[in-house]
Amino acid sequence: MVSSQQRAGIRAEGVSKAFDGHLVLHAVNLAVEPGSTTCVIGPSGSGKSTFLRCLNRLEEPTSGRIFIGSEEITKADTNIDVVRSRVGMVFQNFNLFPHMTVLRNITLALTRVRKMSQDEATVVAEAQLDEVGLRAFKDRRPSQLSGGQQQRVAIARALAMQPDVMLFDEATSALDPELVKGILEIMKRLAASGMTMVVVTHELRFAREAANQVAFLDKGRLVECGPPEELFHAPSSPRLKEFLSQML
Ligand code: ADP
Ligand code: MG
Repeated sequence: MVSSQQRAGIRAEGVSKAFDGHLVLHAVNLAVEPGSTTCVIGPSGSGKSTFLRCLNRLEEPTSGRIFIGSEEITKADTNIDVVRSRVGMVFQNFNLFPHMTVLRNITLALTRVRKMSQDEATVVAEAQLDEVGLRAFKDRRPSQLSGGQQQRVAIARALAMQPDVMLFDEATSALDPELVKGILEIMKRLAASGMTMVVVTHELRFAREAANQVAFLDKGRLVECGPPEELFHAPSSPRLKEFLSQML
């Protein structure tokens, strides 16, 4: 699923974010090794989405630096379109364009950002839809698909851009329980294929099975970060202990 050419890591150095003068991220440091998966867990409102959105500059960090591979993407002269095409993102609510077909949802950025011809883009999009088992649905609108199918389209759309890294923000939280497994399996397959991923999730089992490291955010601070077996079986902070006890 991943082109073998580049495996970029991610590094966040002292990333802070304030909204209206109120800090919601406090100097977060996180390193994601190339080809590895980091799961971000934490209570609602702890800054997980804000942090993820900073990683592709959907939010502008108030301070700090972010690197994708060796390139700092927080420089003033950074081309945002290039960042967005290198850093794929999948959202809780799919964020598909409702008035476009499945195929057009995928080809749009390929033609606009990647400057492919419509024919080239269609070939890439159909191949990506094959990967998620949805080629037969290419002419449908998102509203004619189940939530699980819509999320698979959103994943295919992100992967069609051949991103260096992928971000998932609670990608299964809006799905009916029976549809969750299929999406987690696609994400596991992607992680196993060597994609660099940051995954905000409440699925602790997924974190345990697929993550190389787990980061616990609380009140905008990265409280603990380490291999899943360490965090889940021997959490050192009282806050993480409490959080985990509430999750189980
Ligand atoms: P999480 O994803 O962990 O639930 P968020 O990153 O969504 O947390 O939010 C962290 C904090 O930042 C919350 O207090 C939230 O209300 C605040 N916040 C998020 N986005 C905005 C925004 N655009 N404007 C003002 N406050 C925001
Ligand atoms: Mg969130």
